[in-house]
Amino acid sequence: MEQFKYAKALNSFVKRKREAGISIGFVPTMGALHEGHLSLVRQAKQENDIVICSIFVNPTQFNNKNDLINYPKTIDNDLELLKSVDCDCVFIPSVDEMYPDKQVSKHYDFSGIENEMEGKHRPGHFDGVGTIVSKLLEITLPHKAYFGEKDYQQLQIVKKLASILNLDSEIVGCPIARNKSGLALSSRNKRLTKDQLHEASFIYSQLNLIKRLKKEHSPDEVMQIISNNFSSNPAFDLEYITIADENTLKTIRNWNSGNNVRAFVAAFMGDIRLIDNMAL
Ligand code: AMP
Repeated sequence: MEQFKYAKALNSFVKRKREAGISIGFVPTMGALHEGHLSLVRQAKQENDIVICSIFVNPTQFNNKNDLINYPKTIDNDLELLKSVDCDCVFIPSVDEMYPDKQVSKHYDFSGIENEMEGKHRPGHFDGVGTIVSKLLEITLPHKAYFGEKDYQQLQIVKKLASILNLDSEIVGCPIARNKSGLALSSRNKRLTKDQLHEASFIYSQLNLIKRLKKEHSPDEVMQIISNNFSSNPAFDLEYITIADENTLKTIRNWNSGNNVRAFVAAFMGDIRLIDNMAL
């Protein structure tokens, strides 16, 4: 597996590959890799000649300083995991390499989807995501770039970004990888205690409950029931539960809105913020 630290070297490498007719898949990550990331790399391997994975904890997408400081870092293990799935290249730039001037984001207009859910609760987050993803796509020039549905709003934002910037990369959404008890895999899970890890599958059980409640209750009623269930569970501090249109990400008021709908949850366990979602 080739390792790159510098954007210029990687960019020359991918240009040579493209000229030789080799297709490139790209999987951007913030490291602390787990099976969810690896499932993206595996899919990318199946659909492209070579796969590049990036590991970069992007400071401009963190609205909470402690979350950035405490973000898990397991670089040696990450490299082993990437080798185990035959990843061809890994890009591990420094912060200065990605932000040579100032650590600031560009401002983007994503037609309003940036103001829903995560956007409401993490000010500036999607400007940070847009800024880093556009830089990474310009460096790696992939034919296809892979993003998890775990961060569903981010996936929709990146699709918008690719169309705004007229990028020549297809953005591919990949299903959520979960552990045996249904908890969506996440790098932040590494910070949960054993007890918290056990209790965290409550989120998945509530998402499944929504599917059942949907048959007899309006979206507002369902959101209220789930919100009450979280209030009764001392392990959690619920930030939001939203049932929303998959495309506009706006909260729906009735089930017959015509488009596909999804339930989205963000909740804290202590200072660790977990998000999850499920198609309904
Ligand atoms: P992160 O390192 O958390 O920024 O994630 C890098 C990529 O992996 C993003 O596209 C995520 O949506 C995706 N990802 C993270 N966790 C999962 C998961 N459990 N299942 C599928 N994709 C995931």
